Amino acid sequence: MKVLLTGGAGFLGSHLADAFLKDRHEVYILDTGSSLKIKHQLENPKFHYIHDSVFNLEMLDSLIMKCDLIYHMAAVVGVEHYVADPYAVLNVNINGTQNVLRLAHKHNKKVVFTSTSEVYGRNPKVPWDEDDDRVLGSTRIDRWCYSTSKGAGEHFCHAYRKMGLPVVIVRYFNVYGPRLDKIDVGRVLTIFIGQLLRNEPVTVIGDGSQTRCFTFIDEAIRATVAAGLKPEAEGGIFNIGTDVETTIKDLAQLMIKVSGAKSKIKFVPKESIYGESYEDIQRRVPKVEKMNRILGVKADTPLEEGLRQTWEWFRAFAQ
Ligand code: UDP
Repeated sequence: MKVLLTGGAGFLGSHLADAFLKDRHEVYILDTGSSLKIKHQLENPKFHYIHDSVFNLEMLDSLIMKCDLIYHMAAVVGVEHYVADPYAVLNVNINGTQNVLRLAHKHNKKVVFTSTSEVYGRNPKVPWDEDDDRVLGSTRIDRWCYSTSKGAGEHFCHAYRKMGLPVVIVRYFNVYGPRLDKIDVGRVLTIFIGQLLRNEPVTVIGDGSQTRCFTFIDEAIRATVAAGLKPEAEGGIFNIGTDVETTIKDLAQLMIKVSGAKSKIKFVPKESIYGESYEDIQRRVPKVEKMNRILGVKADTPLEEGLRQTWEWFRAFAQ
């Protein structure tokens, strides 16, 4: 099978490419970003890296025509972008998604749309099942542009499904593992890893009582592959994650333990990291029954074990 991953040179995409290549499929990646995370595949004859964008309609059309299954992962992701460049977030995540869906519809190719737990916003009634409400703040607060853009992408998926396109939506919950982000930027794990590597204090925002469900990459990838391949998944929305909740303070303590660093926790106000226009989410927990039952995957790697593998990878990378 030929699989197209738009945005496939990122963290999830690079691991998804590895999984499909391991199963002897052919992988095409369309990505505007760096090839660092996929460099180990560049010589593989079944791997094709096209350094271009979902706004190049001619290229997108020819790739979608050639491939059997499309994972649309190209998106502007990361808290720093929601705050610094909301235009890019909205434009790529909404208009780019429309391009992919329009051409997939033209060629009748199944699309898996990679969405996010951010779509639930700050709905306080956790755990969330896939049909639960989205609770977002004012449009003046830039952090909601990401949730809005992915929500719009999902609406387009449903609209195209009504017109006959086979689609699946997956929503990731704080997936982590090797190759996550650059050290010191991006998500909480890579920020902590940078601090731990230098034995500096680990910056916990607020009182650290906010929680996340940290999901190890291997299981997220198995679920993502199943979402594309299992006929029962078609038309569905799936939370992809663990339902084991961890406070950020506990995460910091566990990472200090796993790394063996001399760092201590330093509590900092959110404004000092993200500026005024940011709003944190207190709890984010999925219901994972659909993932377990239909996709056949349980995300049960213990956090300490996943953190150990992630830490080892980053430590080796940083040397
Ligand atoms: N966080 C933190 N210290 C940092 C960066 C993030 O305590 O240096 C917290 C942040 O406030 C949030 C959680 O870690 O509650 C997860 O943040 P991340 O940016 O990884 O992703 P999110 O789950 O918020 O999208």
